[in-house]
Amino acid sequence: MSRRRLESRGLAAGLLGDVQTAILTEPLDSLYHITGELGRGKFAVVKKCVEKTTGKVFAAKFVRKRRRGRDCRAEVIHEMAVLEVSRNNPRMINLHAAYETEHDIVLLLEYAAGGEIFDHCISDELLSEFQIIRLIRQTLEGIHLLHQSSVVHLDLKPQNILLTSLSPLGDIKIVDFGLARKLGSAGELREILGTPEYVAPEILNYEPITTASDLWSVGVITYMLITGESPFAGEDKQQTFLNVSQVNVDYSKEAFSRVSELAVHFIRKLLVKAPEDRPSAADCLSHPWLWQQCPGSEPVPPSPRTPRERSGGSKWAAPHEDAEDKENILDSSPHAKRFRFEEDVQAAREGTTEQF
Ligand code: ADP
Ligand code: MG
Repeated sequence: MSRRRLESRGLAAGLLGDVQTAILTEPLDSLYHITGELGRGKFAVVKKCVEKTTGKVFAAKFVRKRRRGRDCRAEVIHEMAVLEVSRNNPRMINLHAAYETEHDIVLLLEYAAGGEIFDHCISDELLSEFQIIRLIRQTLEGIHLLHQSSVVHLDLKPQNILLTSLSPLGDIKIVDFGLARKLGSAGELREILGTPEYVAPEILNYEPITTASDLWSVGVITYMLITGESPFAGEDKQQTFLNVSQVNVDYSKEAFSRVSELAVHFIRKLLVKAPEDRPSAADCLSHPWLWQQCPGSEPVPPSPRTPRERSGGSKWAAPHEDAEDKENILDSSPHAKRFRFEEDVQAAREGTTEQF
């Protein structure tokens, strides 16, 4: 049997097996009113439900235990275990309880009432740059904490990033840990996972997976929120694979006319083929694009990096891939970057720039 098939069978490849949450067997509908469907994927359906005794709303994710004729209970237990690892991570959805029925394990999750950020990628009215910055910053905060536990999500996409409320736009909650993996527990991790449009070239090429694979997906998500387009989506799967492996991205001025140069700079840093050349989530949190603030907003919370780390500004030298970008090269001091940005904001307020 090939290694690929062996690993796709499971347990050795970074799956967690221990859960603390009790798996209850009472009939779910005796405790909850199960109402409408919130979403579905290949092996799960998510329904809104209301706890009868408290009136509290939850999302019940019914995950199939048998898939393609195979017992996959261990994979569902793994998804629960990752939710437990993320219990104190405010950017990840919270697991409230778990139930088991004949065919499913039902994960009772905190309800994210604002829907998927995907809806904001395909809407005629895209979010403002400041709103996007806030959502991406929160996403990075969540991923940073997850990566500190040596867990990679591997399925980050706009459908798996939800919002606590729609209007006003709430905070993000990351969901769907079915493909998440623990790094380092079973040697090198290589798997074919995720949706080609959103996954990093090393995954498509069956090369080792690291935390950097998630950062690629953050680049894709940021691109989609800004432009309303999926950067690598081709006519068919083959074309998408090719676009990803060649990092074939449209950075044309038209696509990015409504945002600052720093937004493009941020995405360019993430959508690089070599995983080792991508910044970590903590690095990203010190990127000057994420320091931009909506006038009158609260100050940006400090990034998880230490001040000393933050002052090592060479991380964010402008990309050199494109000669056209040379005029955008930033001073390597983060303070100078911030200063430069403040000048840009001032100019924008005075209507002397087309960047915003
Ligand atoms: P799958 O593993 O099948 O992709 P997900 O966990 O991604 O399942 O859930 C499928 C969809 O259900 C999500 O994209 C989202 O639209 C909805 N959903 C999932 N969890 C919640 C939640 N906690 N609150 C609200 N909606 C949710
Ligand atoms: Mg999903």
